Amino acid sequence: MSAPKISPTSTPLIFTGGLAETNAYLLNLQGHLLAIDAPEGFLNFLKTKNLKPHSLLLTHGHWDHIWDAAAIAEWATCPVYYHPDTAFLCLQPDSMLTFGLPQKIQPVHATQLLEEKTPPPPAWPQAKLLHVPGHCPGSLCLYLPQTHQLFGGDVLFADGVGRWDLPGGSRDLLITGIQKKILPLPPQTTVYPGHGPTTTVGREASSNPFLQN
Ligand SMILES: [Zn+2]
Ligand SMILES: [Zn+2]
Repeated sequence: MSAPKISPTSTPLIFTGGLAETNAYLLNLQGHLLAIDAPEGFLNFLKTKNLKPHSLLLTHGHWDHIWDAAAIAEWATCPVYYHPDTAFLCLQPDSMLTFGLPQKIQPVHATQLLEEKTPPPPAWPQAKLLHVPGHCPGSLCLYLPQTHQLFGGDVLFADGVGRWDLPGGSRDLLITGIQKKILPLPPQTTVYPGHGPTTTVGREASSNPFLQN
């Protein structure tokens, strides 16, 4: 296992790649490198920097977030975590081929399934898991209270929310979940989304057009 080469600060390394310009993140949690999501090209990015994650969290099972997941887990020999409700997508990525994917995606097995009430893995004890379905069954957001950071996958974007028209999606579940679980977080919380620029909980609470009643 290579030594971590990103500093244990609160700033994650951000990689954006693949057809859907999907964001992946690499966090240094006191020496433990946690990768969040695995779009196309993330493996190469990590290899180039010789940064082997110690664990990989998949916020949900959509193809653009799991493209490199199996390959990263194999290269880094790291455990993979995701929510049980998104396992059907992670284990049968071919079920997403109806969306016109150009190639097969390798299934990725969870080392451990994580639910909202599951204690997080010992290496990231401070993390809180929020289950916010509606964009995808089993969508997990990772909240780090000490640094006020939320890694939200495709739940909440700057000025937007995740689409709810894909299989298993629900606008009501999505909006209710955001209102109940994300908006109560401290307004200065930085939101690192699955697509697009970072934002804050406060900014979205006051101006996101999908969240104004
Ligand atoms: Zn998605
Ligand atoms: Zn996405």
